[in-house]
Amino acid sequence: MPIYEYRCQSCHLISSYFFKVAAAVAGAGVNCQHCGAAEPERIMSSFSRGRTDGDQLRDLDPRYYKMVDDTLGKAPPASDPEHYLKRMAPFSAAKSTGDPYFNE
Ligand SMILES: [Zn+2]
Repeated sequence: MPIYEYRCQSCHLISSYFFKVAAAVAGAGVNCQHCGAAEPERIMSSFSRGRTDGDQLRDLDPRYYKMVDDTLGKAPPASDPEHYLKRMAPFSAAKSTGDPYFNE
């Protein structure tokens, strides 16, 4: 269920609600979760705001990068994304590698 956020026009704090869409559009029965004022202003949820992949990467905890590095360091060589690329031969040299494609 989507999250809808409302900014209170009284205390200016943000309240978050899970809603079915129809109820949220109507804004029915929404009160500030902090001071109880009625009719808080609907704002765009941080989940629906347009964020680039770069924004999301910048927000990652720096410990995450270390975790990825540590995990990749312990992974077997065949799990290296470039493992198979490094083993590939250009087509012009493939015949001399004994590639079964050339066995007729
Ligand atoms: Zn309020």
